[in-house]
Amino acid sequence: MYWIKIIEYLNRFLSSNKIDVPAKIVITNDPDHGKLDDYKKVFSLLDRLNIKITTSVFCKIENDHSDLSRHCYKNETHSLEDPAYKEFMQELYEDGHEIAFHGYSQISNTRERFLEGLEIFKSTFGDYPYTYIEHGGNPKKHSIGMCKKETLAIEGLNPKSEYYIWDIIKEKLNCIWAWHDLLDDDYHVKQGEDYFYKYDSMLCFKRYRMNYINFLLHRTKAKSGTFLGYTHFGYDGYQKTNRYNLENWIGDSLRNAEISLLNLIENNYHFVTLRGLAESLRMRKIK
Ligand SMILES: [Zn+2]
Repeated sequence: MYWIKIIEYLNRFLSSNKIDVPAKIVITNDPDHGKLDDYKKVFSLLDRLNIKITTSVFCKIENDHSDLSRHCYKNETHSLEDPAYKEFMQELYEDGHEIAFHGYSQISNTRERFLEGLEIFKSTFGDYPYTYIEHGGNPKKHSIGMCKKETLAIEGLNPKSEYYIWDIIKEKLNCIWAWHDLLDDDYHVKQGEDYFYKYDSMLCFKRYRMNYINFLLHRTKAKSGTFLGYTHFGYDGYQKTNRYNLENWIGDSLRNAEISLLNLIENNYHFVTLRGLAESLRMRKIK
């Protein structure tokens, strides 16, 4: 009996002395439908709240009459070929946001175009991107016209294809999101390392849709979990309910996004970039 009491006491003592790991939030933003004027408002809010995020860019927007080029198109989605947008992205980079690569353009790109995109990125930001986030439809769900041929689920891993890019990814990039790797059906609170895995020596990550934060951190009040989510600052199609506060960023919705962000900050959640998270965990590809 006496020993049981001592063990109980020790357990209580040890658990009350656990070092509190602050909960972390990573917001990744894909550039689909993103326009400079809307982005300026969103990033001015993030700046005011001292939140750094990972936002990805296209180098160009093309038109080949495919479904992909009807989904995102010139002047509806800005890219690095728009001078004011490019300058704004350079400012974000200087301010400590992570700029990730979303591909040369929004349509299927051969390996030559993919390489050209990486060189445009390098000449814009001074280095190759740390993170590459694939764009395009999921072949299991969308029509083939909506799927980018160089994605890893289609031709990107096939050395015989003109859309083969795996060797380039391994050589020039550090971390990728591919295979539409979403965690949406997984309701277990995660730690940072749970989001990463290796594929053929390359560091890959999974992510949630941003609205799952309500279940995973916010509602469960998980003070030591990590939430890695993605959203589109330029997309306005989600329901205008609290659950989707961090999915709707345009017009009046921005005020609701601000309320949710302030609430997370008050509850001591910390915002980091994807690169910041990977580096803090010493996650890297195997060279
Ligand atoms: Zn995209």
